[in-house]
Amino acid sequence: MTKRITILGSTGSIGESTLDLVRRASPDELSIVSLTANTNAVKLAAQAIEFNAEYVALASPENAHVLKEALSGTNIKIGIGPEAVTEAAERKADFCMAAIIGAAGLQPTLAAVDQGIHVGLANKECLVCAGDLFMQRVISKGATLLPVDSEHNAIFQVLERDKPKGVKRLILTASGGPFRESSLKKLQSVTRADALAHPVWKMGAKISIDSATLMNKGLELIEASYLFDRPSSEIDVVVHPQSIIHSMVEYIDGSVLAQLGSPDMRTPIAYSMGWPKRMAAPVERLDFTKLNGLTFFEPDVIKFPALRLAREALISGGKAPCVLNAANEIAVAAFLNDQISFLDISKVVESVLNKHAARSCFGVSPQEVDEILATDLAARNTAHEHIVSL
Ligand code: NDP
Repeated sequence: MTKRITILGSTGSIGESTLDLVRRASPDELSIVSLTANTNAVKLAAQAIEFNAEYVALASPENAHVLKEALSGTNIKIGIGPEAVTEAAERKADFCMAAIIGAAGLQPTLAAVDQGIHVGLANKECLVCAGDLFMQRVISKGATLLPVDSEHNAIFQVLERDKPKGVKRLILTASGGPFRESSLKKLQSVTRADALAHPVWKMGAKISIDSATLMNKGLELIEASYLFDRPSSEIDVVVHPQSIIHSMVEYIDGSVLAQLGSPDMRTPIAYSMGWPKRMAAPVERLDFTKLNGLTFFEPDVIKFPALRLAREALISGGKAPCVLNAANEIAVAAFLNDQISFLDISKVVESVLNKHAARSCFGVSPQEVDEILATDLAARNTAHEHIVSL
């Protein structure tokens, strides 16, 4: 039977890698239901035509006319605005790849979860800002959450979920980003281009900056805690610059199980899209005789305070991860717009967390989407105020 696929964020790095796999599969195996983007109407239209999509949605209305013109004369239905992106997720599909960047992906991803289908979760921010609610929704709607982040996908592959008491700890690996060996002094003057130049992975701009600050690993720490129901104390981070071991699980008998592979997102994407079967991916194969050593280091949380902030937010619980995520999204956008320096990113996040902790003590985990959206907005406003005052 043909598997019907929706891709939220199809014009991004994960979206394009997903479409690359669909392109290589036979149309009898995989077909496209819906594709979505934010502003990139030209690319969205080209994808929709190539894959004969049923429906496309553009979140931002500014390029709606471009999309409509490019798709005129086709049978492809068009939606405009954030609600249209959610509508894309509501269309009947078997698998939805959630690959929108940031908390903007929360409502569409929840709409996919509400269908009770298989959801490939690349969008870590939506789990960070709404972890408890999101996981409860997955259970109540009978959806299957398949982690796409390479670390979580690795853990998903090697975790004995039927024997949770046998697990001692999860070990997330981190490449260390482009500034792993840079001094704190050097970090004061790094540019946008320096920070975007990831040594191993080719990714969208926001996650590339998150990788450079190590906030990406912090978000993944929180993501792992929700996905695998483990406290912060049972999740460690180790820097592994070669990015060959994608993460590990240590068991109480001392065994450590790891998933290895070339650093290519098409492997975890294929795993999640093909699940429960394995699907071929055209990635470079590991040649163990040519691997030039696998090395491991402690992360430097003095140089990269974002990882510490994320762990503290996870331990605080309640609204803290949502505040952390929102502040980070605003700070990263400000850095990408040359408004603040690289080191300011973590300072903004810390200041917003402190202000919100003083106001609300973070309380309990939000139980309603509206509460999450209100927390997210309040933290964004505080971050904007802080950036203006710098
Ligand atoms: P990109 O920036 O490359 O792509 C983001 C996608 O989301 C684009 O399709 C973009 O549309 C769309 N989008 C952006 N803003 C909005 C919005 N407000 N509403 C609706 N759609 C929007 O991101 P990545 O593919 O790199 O990352 C996607 C997610 O996957 C992130 O959560 C990231 O953390 C995660 N991830 C990514 C990895 C990678 O290798 N790239 C690895 C592991 C996880 P448009 O093109 O029009 O802007």
